[in-house]
Amino acid sequence: MYIPFVDLKIQYQSIKTDIDAAIANVLNETAFIGGKYVSDFAKEFAALYGAKHCVPVANGTDSIYIILKMLGIDKGDEVITVANSWISSSETITQAGATPIFVDVDEYFTIDVRAIESKITKATKAIMPVHLYGQMADVEAIAELCKQYNLYLIEDCAQSHFSEINGSLAGLRGIASSFSFFPGKNLGAYGDAGCILTNDDAVAEKCKMYANHGALIKHQHQIEGINSRLDGLQAAILSAKLPHILKWTDQRIKCAAYYDRILADIGEIELPKVRQNSKHSYHLYVLKAHRRDELALYLKERGIETAVHYPTPLPMLPAYCYLNLKSEDFPIALANMSQILSIPIFPELSIEQQDYIGDCIRTFYKK
Ligand SMILES: *Cc1c(COP(=O)(O)O)cnc(C)c1O
Repeated sequence: MYIPFVDLKIQYQSIKTDIDAAIANVLNETAFIGGKYVSDFAKEFAALYGAKHCVPVANGTDSIYIILKMLGIDKGDEVITVANSWISSSETITQAGATPIFVDVDEYFTIDVRAIESKITKATKAIMPVHLYGQMADVEAIAELCKQYNLYLIEDCAQSHFSEINGSLAGLRGIASSFSFFPGKNLGAYGDAGCILTNDDAVAEKCKMYANHGALIKHQHQIEGINSRLDGLQAAILSAKLPHILKWTDQRIKCAAYYDRILADIGEIELPKVRQNSKHSYHLYVLKAHRRDELALYLKERGIETAVHYPTPLPMLPAYCYLNLKSEDFPIALANMSQILSIPIFPELSIEQQDYIGDCIRTFYKK
């Protein structure tokens, strides 16, 4: 049996008629840049979230960069984020001119709130938790800190579409939040795509303007901006997928619950912990495994694709050598580095596939 890490083809086949029609409409109307498909998707996404504004942009990385830039984050400023994430979470801080300040992870693979306060300085302007793997960071406690120290709260929701904590959706707690619609994300386009959610009118307007060369009206450039637009094809594809996203999220949760059940008795692996009163949207299902690399190879030989998110904590990457950070300052991220393993999870993953994966993991540890 071959089991891909994510199966984008099976999902396409399940909604092929709608997707093909959406693409044909955009082609027939040559609605490539801007236009109704883009504004319709933005409206639909904002409505599903109950957010005041959705600013569509070219990708998730840009959505973070644009938020930081439009909040005035600049040279000499510091932004606190988490030690284990995709590099977009920190490279955008640098792109804005500021310095990323990394904080270790907690037992839920998200920023350790207990370790944040000691990193706050006069230069700190914002805290940017990442709701990693589909699980929200302790955003309530972070919001408290932000209030106390007068900092912006920005949520990186690239991996947490429709995740919740205490009944509130990820992405609505701070000044603005960033989303990615990279093809493999829980809501994925067929190319690069992203958006910003915010309830703040001024922030929404600035972000919209900056993403479109600093102009809200053609040729009326209020500032210099960038070209970061969601294109019509991606928007139409996202709109065709949107009616399915809540069902797909539920299917991911069901897959995770099934893994929790069939893998529970294997002592050599630790299953993902879920924060109380939260809804994990399982962008990824991440184990902590003894002999991780051997297990990954064993699974690969049996047709099962796995991945590591991420092989190196951000502070330990060559890109951040210049910050002279010590790995001992990130003990949990460092310990996780050799143990974390993401096994296949996607809405269409079948019980048979999950049973096969479970059996292979079990046999590996019996060897
Ligand atoms: C995917 C991702 C991003 C960036 O999204 P792109 O659309 O690929 O630019 C940012 N942060 C995290 C945590 C991500 O996983």
